[in-house]
Parts: sequence; C-alpha cells; structure tokens
Amino acid sequence: MSLQPIKLGKAPKLSDADAKRPDDLPGKAERVEQLLALKEQMTELQRRLFAQGRQALLVVLQARDAGGKDGTIRRVFGSINPQGCRVTGYGKPTERELQQDYLWRVHTAVPRRGMIGIFNRSHYEDVLVVRVKELVPESVWRPRYEQINDFERMLSENDVTILKFFLHVSKDEQRRRLLRRLEDPKRNWKFNPEDLKARNEWDAYSEAYREALSRCSTDWAPWYVVPADSKSSRDLLVAQVVVDALERMDPEFPTADPDVLRYVSALDTSER
Ligand code: AMP
Ligand code: MG
Repeated sequence: MSLQPIKLGKAPKLSDADAKRPDDLPGKAERVEQLLALKEQMTELQRRLFAQGRQALLVVLQARDAGGKDGTIRRVFGSINPQGCRVTGYGKPTERELQQDYLWRVHTAVPRRGMIGIFNRSHYEDVLVVRVKELVPESVWRPRYEQINDFERMLSENDVTILKFFLHVSKDEQRRRLLRRLEDPKRNWKFNPEDLKARNEWDAYSEAYREALSRCSTDWAPWYVVPADSKSSRDLLVAQVVVDALERMDPEFPTADPDVLRYVSALDTSER
C-alpha cells in the first residue's frame, strides 16, 4: 500500500483504528529493508536537487505530542547530506514573532532552491493549538485556512514542492509513549506536563486536525494521514511519498560548462 492524499473538503476520520499498522504492508524485516533502499534513492535524488539548485522540497510534519515527529526526521531523513537539508521547529511564538503575521516566521524558513526543508510543527499550529486553546478569536483563525492555501500556492508556483504529513497515533499508543518519557531517564527531558493537558483535549484536537486537513489538502500542497502507531510502517510510508515526489521533480545534474571540458583536456596527464 502507499499513502493517498486527502481529498479537498473530505475530512479524515482519525479513529484509533486508522493509527494501526496497515495489514497490507510487508513484515518488519522487509519494511526495514525497503526503507533502506528508499533512503539510498533519496540521497541520490537530493544530490541532484542540490546540484541543480532550481527547485526546493518542503516537508511539513504535524502530530500530537509523542506522535513521532522527531523520530521520523531522524529515521527517514537521517542519511541525506546535512548541507542540503534544514530542519526548523516551531514552538510558542516569541514576543517579536507575535508582532508580525503568523506566516512571517514560516516564510523565512522556506527552503531555498536546491534544498530540502523540514518543518517540525508549522504554520498549522495557528489553526490547531491556537484554535483549541482559544489564543485568538474564531474570527481571526477561521480565515487562516484560505490564507494558508494562498500562501502555499504562491510557494508552489515559485518552485517549492510541498508535502504535508499528519502522523496519526492512537490514544493508547500516545499513553504508552508519554509513560515511557516519564520512566526512561533518557526520555525524561522530553516530557512536558502541558502534554497531559493536550491529551485531555484529545477530541478538540481531533476536530481541529480534521478541519485543517480537509480544508488545506490542495493539489499544490497535499496532506497525508500516516498511520503512526508502528514506527517502521510510518517511516516506510513517509519515505515512499517523499521519494515519489523527488522523482516527479526529476532533478538533473547541470550539464558541464564547455570551459570545464577545456580544462579537463588541459590537465597534465600526470595529475590524473
Ligand atoms: P515541542 O514541539 O514539544 O517542542 O512543543 C512546542 C510547543 O509549542 C507545542 O506545545 C506547540 O503547541 C506550541 N506551539 C507551536 N506553535 C505555536 C503557536 N503558533 N502558538 C502557540 N503555541 C504554539
Ligand atoms: Mg513536546
């Protein structure tokens, strides 16, 4: 199986069952094997993208707390050339950021031509946490769906390919992962008491996600719901979509300048 984009206007269910590992994926060993092959393809495609320097890829990752954003970045994108990739995380806006429109801090982090940009959270927080916690009135957040679509269309018309993933974990799996954060000294630092509050607002977040995903899954910036209870399945499904997109972007090494060929023939054979 491979992920299909959400159809515009069609809200995904986001039930707990939808977070489970899909039955039609191969067994674990095979999944790990396939991910490795996809990562090799990704590395090669990124080399071309960087050398060509004409188009960019933006990957947006959203999830609930403990939904696996950090793990996905490490496990799916961990082997590409760090020079061609930039990860930007979004927390609570600073005082300075609050003085600007909500897309300001996002726009400056959009990958330049040749680069892959990864957003760990994104401008979607401005219709998710902001909506659920009522940080601004509805009259302010509601028009943002259209504003975001316009913004993303503008980017896509300027050589930025956009892919958006919602890593969907079930309530049980989130519980397991939050507990592990409490118990495991190596994971302790990630625990944030705020996460428990968000867990109590599970349904309000579901509703906010459903609306954001259905209103903003456009032809130019599609949303994918990733069943994310199983990490190896999640990784494989994300990697497939990314590699497909890079293949469609079809980056090519630029052809050598005729001068380069002259230099080659001028090179002393002893130096070769
Ligand atoms: P983490 O990703 O665990 O570092 O947490 C970042 C926190 O910042 C999360 O609780 C987000 O909900 C919060 N956050 C991100 N963007 C915004 C925003 N635009 N307004 C308010 N809170 C935000
Ligand atoms: Mg957190």
